[in-house]
Amino acid sequence: MEAAKSGGGGGAAAYGRTMESDGLSRLAMESDLKGALGRGELCPYYQPIVRLSTGALSGFEALVRWHHPRLGLIMPDQFLPHCEEMGLMNELGAMMIRAAAIQLATWRHDHPAAWDLTVAVNLSAGELERKDLVADVQRIRAETGLPPGALKLEVTEGDVMRDPDQAALILDDLRRAGAAIALDDFGTGFSSLSYLTRLPFDTLKIDRYFVRTMATNEGSAKIVSSIVKLGQDLSLEVVAEGIENAQMAQLLLSVGCDYGQGFGYGPALSPQEAEVYLNESYLDGTAPVKVRA
Ligand code: C2E
Ligand code: CA
Ligand code: CA
Repeated sequence: MEAAKSGGGGGAAAYGRTMESDGLSRLAMESDLKGALGRGELCPYYQPIVRLSTGALSGFEALVRWHHPRLGLIMPDQFLPHCEEMGLMNELGAMMIRAAAIQLATWRHDHPAAWDLTVAVNLSAGELERKDLVADVQRIRAETGLPPGALKLEVTEGDVMRDPDQAALILDDLRRAGAAIALDDFGTGFSSLSYLTRLPFDTLKIDRYFVRTMATNEGSAKIVSSIVKLGQDLSLEVVAEGIENAQMAQLLLSVGCDYGQGFGYGPALSPQEAEVYLNESYLDGTAPVKVRA
């Protein structure tokens, strides 16, 4: 902490890197983190998800950020491992679901053209075992009036495969509670494909590794088009992650991928910045969300 301060306040990267290698600083971070949730310093940022064929905004993925009072914005890879060690993931997850659902309901209310906007929240491995997760989703839907499917929950292959039978029960309950379920980082884990039909998924998210390499690696390109085809055959929505430029968007569109997100369309934004995307022409695609060349 002292090092960061004496360095002129450095910012997120300097904090994370120096903290990791320094036991004392890690203590400082963990002590800062302890109160951070209660003080409202952890909150969702929103990355736009667009329909690739029209460029229309279809929703956002909520990604946690830490507004550190002195060090500014800190990225999740810098503090989520500490949250995990400190047993804060359930509390963090509950906050993210609540904050993102309330934000979505507000946007839908304030912008009539945003009536079918969605928001996706990431679940951590342990949260699937959280007893009150289903009740939380039911309660927040009742409070906000969000229709079924407006709130999506993202789980990774690895997390689900730890105990697929148990995961199936919980995901079924979450779906009954009105959440849609997305399988995140698809293609990087080792799930048996039969789980795609046995577990109640609505969406497959193609991992950004395949998207990044599809232009230069024939294998990746084939995997991407196979995932898209698989999604279509199983009536699952397919979302590609990590679209950084127009070429990637075009390649994905050419293999029939429906939705995408990535720095090319925009990074995760503060609620105020994200709201700029909520004008009518972005939502109906008459003025598409532009993808960076
Ligand atoms: P993820 O769920 O795969 O989220 C996508 C990550 O890719 C985000 O990183 C996002 O900023 C980044 N990204 C988006 N577009 C691009 C792109 O075009 N190129 C590249 N290279 N990266 C892109 P972020 O926000 O740093 O989050 C990292 C990971 O931390 C997430 O990966 C997710 O596993 C975890 N995470 C973030 N927020 C939460 C949360 O609220 N709860 C839980 N349990 N995990 C979270
Ligand atoms: Ca995700
Ligand atoms: Ca992902």
